[in-house]
Amino acid sequence: MSEHWIADRMHQIDASGIRKVFDLAARMNVPINLSIGQPHFDTPEPIKQALCQAVSDGKNAYSQTQGIAALIEKIQAHVDETYGHPDRKVFISSGTSGALMLSLSTLVNPGDEVIIFDPYFVMYKHLVTLAGGKAVLIDTYPDFRIDLDKVRDAITPRTKVILCNSPSNPTGYVAGEEEIRGLAELAKEHDVALVSDEIYRSFCYDQPFISPASWNDQTIVIDGFSKSHSMTGLRLGYVHGPEHVLQQMIKLQQFTFVCAPHPVQWAGLAAWDYDVSDRVEQYRCKRDFMVAELGDDFEIAGAGGAFYLFMKSPWGTGTEFVAEAIKHGLLIIPGNVFSSRDTHIRISYAAEDDTLQRGVEVLQKLATVR
Ligand code: PMP
Repeated sequence: MSEHWIADRMHQIDASGIRKVFDLAARMNVPINLSIGQPHFDTPEPIKQALCQAVSDGKNAYSQTQGIAALIEKIQAHVDETYGHPDRKVFISSGTSGALMLSLSTLVNPGDEVIIFDPYFVMYKHLVTLAGGKAVLIDTYPDFRIDLDKVRDAITPRTKVILCNSPSNPTGYVAGEEEIRGLAELAKEHDVALVSDEIYRSFCYDQPFISPASWNDQTIVIDGFSKSHSMTGLRLGYVHGPEHVLQQMIKLQQFTFVCAPHPVQWAGLAAWDYDVSDRVEQYRCKRDFMVAELGDDFEIAGAGGAFYLFMKSPWGTGTEFVAEAIKHGLLIIPGNVFSSRDTHIRISYAAEDDTLQRGVEVLQKLATVR
């Protein structure tokens, strides 16, 4: 075995937390799965039809690197109408993950610092590492609010990027206008790039979605169809932001992902016009149900958007609680997968109502066993 073949950076990427959970689950019978980070609906029919049509029409070769003009134009029109920034341009990426990777690789020099809010989406830390940067975590417990004083204190001459995500995975926290606006202005004041992951934009239950791009015209917005349109396997995302940054990201896309899957981009036209509000409404009802059932036994903050509850473990560490839940047939994720703390558990309520009901029963029982 040639261990030395493996680059050092790969040893800095630790996927063991989540793997341990899935290994444990694979060895046991876990009939109630509330661990999944994607909608439980299938892709809507008109989008599937548009995809099949594109494939049978032979739209299977490479597209232009930046994406097909028809989809770019559709999204650009929306972006222009929403923000009216003369320099804000759109390109199509290979999923939101692809866009995140391109943005960090484009912006981060070795040794640069990237501010991330803890708890964070698992990928962020590793993409920063891949780019040679250093993730600087800002603790947001217990309510997951963005504390602007903490952000100000964390900014150093090496700070290159602030990466924000509202609504958030794993907390479901939706930041308010004061936080988002403050963050946007702080980034501008310190000349730091602000990357906003808005993949859960459609899933805001208690207030309208707000983007830092409303106050900072240089914000790089990462978005995609995976969650809003149940298209996680189809790998379609998009970016809007200042043209000089996007040009560099497109250059890197040309030599990495090449383009987003071409037929899927045509399906994206149908997706853009597909109204997802009834699905969002269903998730709002599921959120209400879960919070009503679990709110007495668990400390729940956030939960204003996305489809996750990030709850404090009522006893032991998050890892210990999850191990016990798995023994009772319930698969959930320990908070330390998303955080430097091991105090919480993440539950996804993107599941059928009867699965949620059974999950709630296990959680209520476990909350009181110790
Ligand atoms: N950002 C966040 C916050 C996510 O939760 C996810 C998916 N779990 C992604 C990005 C990646 O989504 P995509 O399928 O578009 O790559």
